[in-house]
Amino acid sequence: MSNFEAFKLAKRYIPGGVNSPVRSFSHVDGLPFFTGKAKKCFLYDIEDNKYIDYVCSWGANIVGHANHSVNQRLSGAIKKGYSFGTPTTLETTLAETICALIPSIEKVRLVNSGTEAVMAAIRLARGYTKRPYILKFSGCYHGHSDSMLVSAGSGVAAADNYSGVLEDIAKNTLVVDYNQTDGLSKIFRNYGENIAGVIFEPFAGNMNLIFPTKNFIEQLVSLSKQYGALLICDEVMTGFRVALGGGQSVLGITPDITILGKVVGGGMPLAAFGGKAKIMNQLSPLGLVYQAGTLSGNPIAVTCGLANLDIIQSEGFYDRLSSLTRRLTDGLISSSQKHGIKFCANYIGGLFGIHFQDELPNNLKQAQSANREVFNNFFHFMLRHGVFFAPSMLEAGFINIEHTELIIDRTIRIADKSFSRLAFN
Ligand code: PLP
Repeated sequence: MSNFEAFKLAKRYIPGGVNSPVRSFSHVDGLPFFTGKAKKCFLYDIEDNKYIDYVCSWGANIVGHANHSVNQRLSGAIKKGYSFGTPTTLETTLAETICALIPSIEKVRLVNSGTEAVMAAIRLARGYTKRPYILKFSGCYHGHSDSMLVSAGSGVAAADNYSGVLEDIAKNTLVVDYNQTDGLSKIFRNYGENIAGVIFEPFAGNMNLIFPTKNFIEQLVSLSKQYGALLICDEVMTGFRVALGGGQSVLGITPDITILGKVVGGGMPLAAFGGKAKIMNQLSPLGLVYQAGTLSGNPIAVTCGLANLDIIQSEGFYDRLSSLTRRLTDGLISSSQKHGIKFCANYIGGLFGIHFQDELPNNLKQAQSANREVFNNFFHFMLRHGVFFAPSMLEAGFINIEHTELIIDRTIRIADKSFSRLAFN
């Protein structure tokens, strides 16, 4: 079956043919390819085309696709059964590992997706503080639960649409621009005593990649402390990707609650939220904040997470990951400069942003002002030549440890051709 036929068939039975909107390539006016298999840093579609993968399951894959040691542990685990509905010691081992790697987490609960983890963390913040409001930043994406779709990033930013969310729910979400310190102090002055928690991405990866300013983070930490609002650090994308200790270790902050997803499950449906014991102890069965899940802590997902966390703790893992990402962004920047293309790029650990504009953006509005037409041309040229970047200019890019120097250099050579064409047009 061709990709075209597969998409046509999928559209008959699945809304838009996809199970998550950005996969449809609608933001780049294209048609998606259907993946048949993946190995190391490559995806192979059902027509056997091979792509260098800079999406990496939207960041979940950091050790390379179909990693041998992960596969071995998964095959061992599956023989023992794959869902029990009772606790397993595997879950405790994963919880212990998470607490050791991220010291702000004293206790942690495992769930199935980042969306679910955020939803529970927000309920927990409200239950703990007995306050109604959650403050978020425009362009940050925290999954698709009702209250978090307000001014969200990722596919929501591109579509600018959250029909189905009641105004009564949305009004409890306060929004400020990312990196906007004036707005932050103003909203705390007006609502501070009623804010249960402030949720933020330590490095914003859902409006392309935006770094926080030092002032912004300092103010975020000091205002939430001053007003008694919980600091909720959403590390679904950044956790175990920008550094072993996540974005919070890079910024030197100690959140009250941390959300993990993607890498923590290594590509399986697994996410987590954790934090100070006195807060986490409010969850049922100890406390009154209810949260549950039939498949939470699934043994196969947990085995995959543990196998991934073992690999990322190997000596030099993050040095190598960062140096590969830097090689890519440096190479793209110098090639774009050679051709006079308005382009810049940034990276941290295995996360990067490519921006078709003069300067790195600081907030959603600036990210949206990049040249969409040029990005789309670049995206399609790269795809035709076997390089898969995220199919939207508002998404970040991802490296896994199997992207070798040779593969990155090949990517830069192909990008150079694309830039030369863009310059000519
Ligand atoms: N939070 C952040 C920062 C994310 O990037 C995402 C997904 O991309 C989520 C939450 C939602 O996670 P999930 O897609 O697993 O529900």
